[in-house]
Amino acid sequence: MTKTNADSKTSLTKNQALVLKVLSNASQPLGAYAILDKLRSHGFKAPLTVYRALEQLAGQGLVHKIESLNSWTTCCGEHQANPPVFEICNDCGNVTEQFDRELVKSLNSMSERSGFIPDRSIIEIHGRCDDCGTDAKLTKGMNNATD
Ligand SMILES: [Zn+2]
Ligand SMILES: [Zn+2]
Repeated sequence: MTKTNADSKTSLTKNQALVLKVLSNASQPLGAYAILDKLRSHGFKAPLTVYRALEQLAGQGLVHKIESLNSWTTCCGEHQANPPVFEICNDCGNVTEQFDRELVKSLNSMSERSGFIPDRSIIEIHGRCDDCGTDAKLTKGMNNATD
């Protein structure tokens, strides 16, 4: 069994495959220049090369741009046509991709009411992830205990 995600997709160019691999290996979203730095040994010289690959990967739904971070991340591949919701931790920088069918319905009826025709939606929520939130609570609890 050698089937991978990349095999099932329409043919990626070498550059697209390299950019996708860098993003897949990253634990957090990366900016175009961070991607460029990791790919210099593969002959990437200009940010434009990275941007072009990213735009094409985004067009295939393989990566997303996190607008508020100006960074890119791989798609979880589970939300199909539903717009992704990104939960962005301000403490550790962790980003998780979610989607919610009820939210999609609400967004659609909102647009219907205003006659707006949505092209693409990206929802980004900043806050604190479960880990960081729990840590903060624990620390607080310990402080209280020693009082
Ligand atoms: Zn996605
Ligand atoms: Zn966090």
